[in-house]
Amino acid sequence: MEFTYESYIKLLKRLEDKGYQFAGYRSWEKKEKSVILRHDVDYSLQKAAEFSAVEREMGVPSTYFVLVSSDFYNLHSLKSKKYIRQIMDNGGEIGLHFDETQYDIRTEEELRDYLYREADILSGITGKETGAVSMHRPSEKFLSDNMEFGSIINSYSKIYFKDMKYLSDSRRRWREDVDEIVRQGAYRRLHILVHPFWYFTGFERDIKQTLKGAILNASLQYYDGLEDNFSSLGKEIRRDEIEELLRG
Ligand SMILES: [Zn+2]
Repeated sequence: MEFTYESYIKLLKRLEDKGYQFAGYRSWEKKEKSVILRHDVDYSLQKAAEFSAVEREMGVPSTYFVLVSSDFYNLHSLKSKKYIRQIMDNGGEIGLHFDETQYDIRTEEELRDYLYREADILSGITGKETGAVSMHRPSEKFLSDNMEFGSIINSYSKIYFKDMKYLSDSRRRWREDVDEIVRQGAYRRLHILVHPFWYFTGFERDIKQTLKGAILNASLQYYDGLEDNFSSLGKEIRRDEIEELLRG
């Protein structure tokens, strides 16, 4: 499958054709044949919001897991809140993407405390109870523990891996042929992780192009952020000077 919006739309159509019903973490059990679509937002909320518009077109619900403790975006900024709102308006559910490496966690109790704290922060932003959590770079220990978090569904529970066919495009690589697996339609339950970061409209970019584009774009976003906070920034350094540097 190509890493384009168009290929993703084809995948969604094929899922539909094969009788899969799109479900969330709380609704899959009631469906005869279901697929949970999950997105981890590791770097760009903007990209996630863009991606959610594609799903809206298709009338497909999914869950976007966002980081609370990230250096890449600040959930409390106005811009981020706008993206979160867009995702929700497009039918996306917002879950917590929890990065345990941000803390010095020694016990399960501590992990729970930090996780609940982040879930609360997130719910303050979405205005909804945080219903599900996924782990960013989970430790071996976490994966083997099969922990539960009260009313927050742990998307790393065994049920989502053992009882479902799990497919992921992590590091921009499908471990298995997702198109083929959907075409065969043999599995009753699918759990698919898609990272919007890797997808573009029209043509795909390879891993290096994608990363390079994101890094260069971040420089310009930094400039724009500075401009909002530093009056007459253009007198000191112009945006096109940065663009020039980036082109070189
Ligand atoms: Zn992640």
